[in-house]
Amino acid sequence: MSHSTTPQIGLYGGAFDPPHAGHHALAACAVAQLQLDTLYVLPTGDAWHKTQALSPANHRLAMASLNFEDLPAVIVDDMEIKREGPSYTIDSLRAIATRHAGATFFVLLGADQAARFETWKDWQWIAQMACLAVAPRVLGSQEEASPHEWHNHSNIRYTLLDMPLENVSATDIRSGLAQGLPPGQTLKPSVFQYIQHHHLYMDRHDRSL
Ligand code: ATP
Repeated sequence: MSHSTTPQIGLYGGAFDPPHAGHHALAACAVAQLQLDTLYVLPTGDAWHKTQALSPANHRLAMASLNFEDLPAVIVDDMEIKREGPSYTIDSLRAIATRHAGATFFVLLGADQAARFETWKDWQWIAQMACLAVAPRVLGSQEEASPHEWHNHSNIRYTLLDMPLENVSATDIRSGLAQGLPPGQTLKPSVFQYIQHHHLYMDRHDRSL
């Protein structure tokens, strides 16, 4: 529980296709560092910024529940899956802010997404309502992103999550699974069992990787 009298509420959206050790590390770090009372994990419905087809939402939701089940502050919520049209963080933030009037809000994201934050729908509103909590992540350029450019943007509040770089991505995991490689430490055993049981990601011709 938070030591603050104001509830601290986090939102963490993603495709979670599949949810992996990097997602878990980010969530665990944020709950501890930001003293979150509740962290909403929000598997996306139709992700406006992803080009590849996602696995069915019911599977991503079930895997997210398994991935975060040891973190009592986490609620895996299907609001983005149920919502019509593309999933936008601003809509989820507004819905959660209505549930938790007067709370302090944090939007959790990796540095790769943070670098693109100004392309998010209504990002100025998000920045006004919430503080961003940014995890280190290697960008495509292999440079570690830092949001230092945001110093120009006094209207974006952000905090850096103090966690080691977790060099894992869902893309690499999907491609490894399609080649029959064991996921090692990148997936929780329960998530890997779920994937095997439902034959997800196994056929490389099944869907775009
Ligand atoms: P993909 O490889 O399919 O693009 P992903 O591994 O980036 O997927 P997402 O579900 O798209 O996973 O990520 C959701 C959020 O978690 C994003 O904000 C992303 O930056 C962050 N994230 C994902 N993996 C990591 C990681 N290893 N370290 C830090 N943040 C991460």
